Amino acid sequence: MIRFKRKEKPKKENTLSGRRVFSNNLYVLKIIQRVAPSYLPTYFLWSVTGAILDFFIYTWMMRKVVNDFQLGEPVEKLAAIILALLVGQIVFDVFINILRKVVYPRYQQKIVAAIEQSLFEKASQVELECYENPKFYDKYVRAMDNSYQRCMDVVNTADMLIWRVTSISTNALILISIDPVLALVALIPLLIGYVRKYRNRMQKNRDDERRPIDRRQAYVQRSFYLGEYAKEMRLTAMPKLMIGYYAETLKEHIALQKKYGYKMAILKTIGDTGPDLVVFLAGLYAAYCTLIRGTMLAGDFLVVFNTVGQVAWVLASLVTTLEDFRTHALYIEDYRYFLDYQPKIKKNTNGVRASAGTLTVEGVTFRYTGAERDALQNIHMTIRPGEKIALVGHNGSGKSTLVKLLLHLYEPTEGAVKLNGIPLADYDQDSLMEQFSVVFQDFKLFSLSVAENILLRPLKEGDEERVTEALKKSGGWEKVSTLKNGIHTTLTREFDDEGAVLSGGEGQKVSLARIFADDAPIIILDEPSSALDPIAEYQMFQNMMEACEGRTLIFISHRLASAALADHVYLLEDGRIVEDGSHRDLMEKGGRYAELFGKQAENYVKEVSAREA
Ligand code: ADP
Ligand code: MG
Repeated sequence: MIRFKRKEKPKKENTLSGRRVFSNNLYVLKIIQRVAPSYLPTYFLWSVTGAILDFFIYTWMMRKVVNDFQLGEPVEKLAAIILALLVGQIVFDVFINILRKVVYPRYQQKIVAAIEQSLFEKASQVELECYENPKFYDKYVRAMDNSYQRCMDVVNTADMLIWRVTSISTNALILISIDPVLALVALIPLLIGYVRKYRNRMQKNRDDERRPIDRRQAYVQRSFYLGEYAKEMRLTAMPKLMIGYYAETLKEHIALQKKYGYKMAILKTIGDTGPDLVVFLAGLYAAYCTLIRGTMLAGDFLVVFNTVGQVAWVLASLVTTLEDFRTHALYIEDYRYFLDYQPKIKKNTNGVRASAGTLTVEGVTFRYTGAERDALQNIHMTIRPGEKIALVGHNGSGKSTLVKLLLHLYEPTEGAVKLNGIPLADYDQDSLMEQFSVVFQDFKLFSLSVAENILLRPLKEGDEERVTEALKKSGGWEKVSTLKNGIHTTLTREFDDEGAVLSGGEGQKVSLARIFADDAPIIILDEPSSALDPIAEYQMFQNMMEACEGRTLIFISHRLASAALADHVYLLEDGRIVEDGSHRDLMEKGGRYAELFGKQAENYVKEVSAREA
């Protein structure tokens, strides 16, 4: 539940050292350079060319033509210069537009793919725990959301910087060559730059303070239009309460406007009129030099009048350009953090190659990060090849956690899980994973074909038969055979109008086919049968035992009737194994297991007789 009243503090301004800002931006440029080596050089080269051409046409040519005209040079010669530069401009425009519309997008696609893939790869490697750590997860989501755009922004800002520096250098040179006094004029724009920088910061602070208010407004809006709230909104006085909250947010908006409005107006005025002032002063000075002192020609005057404003504007924005790099660096920090993150459970690629064998759990205790108590305590188990093992116990007793440790999704807090006497961490991770076939209760079907959902890898020769066989064993064939495209039917309609939407039970059968489609020596099923009724579940497990002859089977069910099929049953309570043994032994012992079994059987009989009555 969202705690509505809580006022969120605006996020503290993250600060990075100048070195880190530089290094983060460089990091991105290096990635781009590696993925698409010709992109940056072409991009920047054309930018420089454009700035120089601009200078030649709008400053140099203008000055030359007007001055020469004043000095009485032949008109044909001037016309030739103008023509040459205009042709140059047209050729340039054709090229740059082809680059922008044809060439650059191709590179950009390559870059986006490389960046996203680097994130996907990392995401599949970090330990499961990271998904439960909100701080890490936030960074991860932000990295996923922003990285590509930020990388492109770095290129744009770098390009802008290059363009601006080229443009300033060329234009400032001509101004100083006309009259060195004009260099003084540069001081004003630099000041303006700092005013703008200050204004941008203030704007950012204001936006940060505004965001939580906006979020609360959006929440009120949602509560009125989303179906999930509609019942409460009609039956109670919630609408009144919500409208009250909305009014409160309006007040906060107005207060915020008051806090920043005037300051922003003043800063904006300085920022906007500053460049005008520069043009005015420089123009006045040039007019004086041209008309009274006679040190400038008409062309010089024109250039000063024309160029000074541009130089002032570019100089002022140089300051904010540097600020932009700082902002990019903050976002890139998330991306870098994520990519540099070293999973605690490292993907061991040069470890021992795993092979079928005995799994042992030796004194394992496990606590989830941030949890107040152990989810598992001092667990000991030995699971020999081919054994059928049932894990039973109430919800929350630790069955799924145990399974996740067996699969090396988590590292035990104490103790070790071993395969053939070697800790799981010492195995080559891929070869270890090949030992297991797993179906979870919250199994996910992907928006891919039935066959891909069963194989969980790209299709190969001979896979069609394999998939069909597997579906027949899991009971999914009955449904899949009726689909128009059979095992090649896409699941879900999200991307395919001809896609199939399966019911819970059908989906479960398709996901169970995963077990039969590969022949990993150890099968793990974490309540894969919850959508089935007790009798169907019992039959499913019975079929599975037969079909998986010779393979180790570890299954979780809280229906003890199914557990009776196993060679060995472990009963968990509060993270401990309280009883274990064969069903028969445990029944004879008359302990917790026997008690629970009796209760469930009683309920079951009641249920059946109620249904029959
Ligand atoms: P079971 O599968 O037997 O129902 P679990 O293994 O899922 O039980 O859960 C065992 C205990 O660990 C429960 O108390 C549960 O709340 C806790 N737990 C499970 N998953 C997490 C998690 N990701 N983070 C923190 N605690 C968890
Ligand atoms: Mg569970």
